[in-house]
Amino acid sequence: SAMRKTDVKRTKTVCTYCGVGCSFEMWSRGRDILKIEPQPEAPANQISTCIKGKFGWGHVNSEHRLTKPLIRENGAFREAEWDEAYALIAKRFTEIRNEHGPDALAYIASSKCTNEEGYLMQKFARAVMGTNNIDNCSRYCQAPATQGLWRTVGYGADTGSIADLEAAELLIVVGANTAETHPVIATRFKRAAKLHGQKHIVADIRNNELARRADLHIKPSPATDMIWMNAVAKYLIDNNLHDEAFVRDYVDGYDEFVKSLEDFTFEFAIERAGISREELHKVADMVANAKTICGVWAMGITQHTMGSDTATAFCNLLVVTGNMGRFGTGGYPMRGHNNVQGASDFGNMPDRFPGYEFVSDDAVRSRYEAGWGVALSANKGRNNHQMVHDMHEGELKSLYVMGEDMAIVDSDALGVQSAFEKLDFFVVQDMFFTRTCEFADVVLPGSPSVEKEGTFTNTERRIQRLYEVFPPIGDSKPDWQIVTELAKHLGHDWGYTHPSEIMDEAAGLAPMFKGVSYDQLEGFDSQQWPVFERGHGTKNLYLQEDGDLEFHFENGRAKLHPVAWTEPSDQVDEEYDLHLNNGRILEHFHQGNLTDETDGIIFKIRGSYVEVSPELAEERGIKTGSLVRLKSRRGAVKVAVEVTDRVQGNQMYMPQHGKKNIECINVLTSFKADKDTDTPAYKELAVKMEVLGEQ
Ligand code: SF4
Repeated sequence: SAMRKTDVKRTKTVCTYCGVGCSFEMWSRGRDILKIEPQPEAPANQISTCIKGKFGWGHVNSEHRLTKPLIRENGAFREAEWDEAYALIAKRFTEIRNEHGPDALAYIASSKCTNEEGYLMQKFARAVMGTNNIDNCSRYCQAPATQGLWRTVGYGADTGSIADLEAAELLIVVGANTAETHPVIATRFKRAAKLHGQKHIVADIRNNELARRADLHIKPSPATDMIWMNAVAKYLIDNNLHDEAFVRDYVDGYDEFVKSLEDFTFEFAIERAGISREELHKVADMVANAKTICGVWAMGITQHTMGSDTATAFCNLLVVTGNMGRFGTGGYPMRGHNNVQGASDFGNMPDRFPGYEFVSDDAVRSRYEAGWGVALSANKGRNNHQMVHDMHEGELKSLYVMGEDMAIVDSDALGVQSAFEKLDFFVVQDMFFTRTCEFADVVLPGSPSVEKEGTFTNTERRIQRLYEVFPPIGDSKPDWQIVTELAKHLGHDWGYTHPSEIMDEAAGLAPMFKGVSYDQLEGFDSQQWPVFERGHGTKNLYLQEDGDLEFHFENGRAKLHPVAWTEPSDQVDEEYDLHLNNGRILEHFHQGNLTDETDGIIFKIRGSYVEVSPELAEERGIKTGSLVRLKSRRGAVKVAVEVTDRVQGNQMYMPQHGKKNIECINVLTSFKADKDTDTPAYKELAVKMEVLGEQ
């Protein structure tokens, strides 16, 4: 039937997938999503989107959506009304707290949910339950990046904006498959190369799309980026090619830094990182000759036992060459989820309130105690990695997870699943009955982005508004309403009627968000934090209005932070003779919980596969379509082979998405983690391969 124009509703929304934060208008009629129409005024993407933002909306009206709360009874789930589910949760949370104390309970917020929902989850943990056991999945990705930036420049976030990335003369992209994981930002890189000759150095063990187009592609041995970064820094300093004036005017810790570089010779980099002398010279020349450099990185740096130290080494290199703070320079960890930046910003961390103020700081805590009208704990809580550990130990009795499929996204997935089995009481809030839900006692049906109001914060710290397109399906509810109603069942009547009131409360308590309010975020309007004053967002964190630089430390100076090399975990040996890299692909987002619901996407990419180099395929007598079993020191998965020159030698690559526990990469990964942040070392993985035959 002909579509009547008057039936069509146009709603501004923000993509629910990656941290680029594309915004656009969604055309809908009733519950049907008709199309996505990008708008030139969209701050992060203008008229661009990728396949996921344009077509990946099948999850919204999927028949797999949860529409009722579920309660486990005699080993099976039955549907329940909300009041019954809330009453049961309130009763069990209270019993467990009374018996074991507040720190026997823990909470995990979602990087897919809004800032306001994240704020409420940490308020629930702290103010209602009395514990700082609260975390979010940035622990699985960019927590080490945050650490590197905190140590050197002061704020744990992208130092500038996407505009800086476009303006830079040189981009150094390390361990980031930008063309697939942040496609719209990658199109900016390509445009900058075309328009003003921007140069690209890519360091990646895999021939990803950006690497193939790069001016220089280096392939360090797995987990050795710190070595070549430090070797280049040492070479530049030894030859007086660093930025001496910048170091004098803006940087502390130079002498100790120089001393820490002693062992990082080109010889060491050649021998251990496997990069040639010629390549090292080329990197050093390109760095020395570029007036503006941005460093871009993702999980290839962070998901290692030395993730924080490698991120720090990258920041050090940028600092010592004068590439922090100025326009067109800086450090840019590419944030994964649509709102992984916001989840941490709004306090879903075991030691920090919204705006990154410490829970141990008496003055800060008093401010929150006055604002919330309760006494708060000063003890640092558990992060999600420690939570899993302490579930095994029997010290953590209860967990409430909002919007995260921990059973398959955490490393050492089988270990996580057995930890869940030890919980006395487990609540999962999700849109779908995920693998994690199978271990729950109560499952609460939440909502996707298009069924709620709120804000997301993208990789460049940009807070953007999303609007409800249509109401939640069935009896499901926006996640902020669920947390609010549950708090009320526990005697805390917050009284929120709209997420704008939650943002107002956060703005009143966290100085970093003081000037944020919904009337400044209407339509495509946005604000980049910190917003200390109404109407004044921050494009560049350290660039002052008069052009001077002020880093986020008491004396305003950046710091060089020495790091030392240690060997990675789970290395290849005679038995486990192959390195298995892993990550995302363009079409799917992470484990595929959302993208698996869009027919067009699963038609293109169904199930997982392992990329095998032509050399290795020949050696093992396998070809594209062969079935293999990959075994690590933890578990085994069965998967189909794709022979491709994207990988080399005994290095393989397996996407994250796939059938749960059969093709789940995290059945293989280990519990080893970054020593500073507990981010799992997903990328340190040795396996052996058993050939099973043809598919
Ligand atoms: Fe969404 Fe990221 Fe694609 Fe933009 S680039 S449409 S934010 S997935």
